[in-house]
Amino acid sequence: MKINDHYMNLASNYLFADIAKKVQAFKAENPEAEVISLGIGDVTQPLCPAVVEALHKAADEMGQSATFRGYGPERGYDFLRNAIVENDYRARGIDIDADEVFVSDGAKSDTGNFQELLSEDCVVAVTDPVYPVYVDSNIMAGRRIVKLPCTAENGFVPAFPQEHVDVIYLCYPNNPTGTTLTKEQLKVWVDYALQHDALIFYDAAYEAFIQSKDVPHSIYEIPGAKECAVEFHSFSKTAGFTGVRCGYTIVPKALPVPLNQLWSRRQCTKFNGTSYISQRAAEAIYTPDGQQQIRSTIGYYMQNAKLMRETLTQMGFTVYGGTDAPYIWVKTPKGMTSWEFFDWMLHSAHVVCTPGAGFGPSGEGYVRLTAFGTHENTEKALRRMANRL
Ligand SMILES: *Cc1c(COP(=O)(O)O)cnc(C)c1O
Repeated sequence: MKINDHYMNLASNYLFADIAKKVQAFKAENPEAEVISLGIGDVTQPLCPAVVEALHKAADEMGQSATFRGYGPERGYDFLRNAIVENDYRARGIDIDADEVFVSDGAKSDTGNFQELLSEDCVVAVTDPVYPVYVDSNIMAGRRIVKLPCTAENGFVPAFPQEHVDVIYLCYPNNPTGTTLTKEQLKVWVDYALQHDALIFYDAAYEAFIQSKDVPHSIYEIPGAKECAVEFHSFSKTAGFTGVRCGYTIVPKALPVPLNQLWSRRQCTKFNGTSYISQRAAEAIYTPDGQQQIRSTIGYYMQNAKLMRETLTQMGFTVYGGTDAPYIWVKTPKGMTSWEFFDWMLHSAHVVCTPGAGFGPSGEGYVRLTAFGTHENTEKALRRMANRL
């Protein structure tokens, strides 16, 4: 039996397992210590009332023969695709057709699967540090990957690749660094892609956290982007859907290759849609109540981010991100490696962070903190760090 050899080229996915192991060992030695995690990328606040109401209502419909739904349309229900077009695009002056919207079960599957439409010999560029899904899914397919370092030295703005690449994955606001590109900085990449026959796969999973006026919510705010970019969205961080599962992907019909048709064909073959119940829940996010409620939860997380930025800066740390994203990227002090700083945080403050090196070589010398904790835990974690310095 021959397996897909490319899987042998995957780096072992030890990051979160190694973190868990270290935390477990620490807890075993210090059973009385109360460990606070600012490491995980999962949300903590519950679904908002408008979403819960929609979930109940949809569940009731599924229990009545008159309103029961079986398999849904492959691209998603019209009610959700129209809500997406109206609220996320038309309201921003962007013209996206409902036929360009593909409802998904989240952005991880779509950012991971979309590469299937490309030839094996395409060269792929990713920023470094990076969300590992883009890298691993392309390694599984045997593609070559070019890394574009993003560090304090270049202001976390990637430089153009030194060679021709066919695809560029961009994630802004960025996980893990929490940094953004302004409209002007993103325009440079759209122009580059158009000029060099490259595609941009744009992950906008953290779009809802943007506070700054000059940071684009969608790559389609940039002229020409519909001719070179696919855009991925998720309700996971926007509305606490990490356990509900729903997102969407925009595949413009104006792209130079028929990706819209191919993605439709691919999804019809391998995907049977997101549940009706999840799609009704996602629709509720776009109601006035839903909007007001998710804004309030995002505000709650961004208050944590602000407190973390300010307090860590006062303590003498150099921090990045956290103004338009729920992540704070902290420079490790005194030339410590990211794992050394992780150990210090765990042992002296009982706080868990994520070592930057786990996101790629350019993440060395940084750690990621998330703003997804509760206010109480975030404050407590910061107080402990301050006491230990
Ligand atoms: C969390 C996250 C996603 C969303 O994943 P889902 O599958 O929608 O839960 C996508 N991209 C990045 C960079 C993320 O951090």
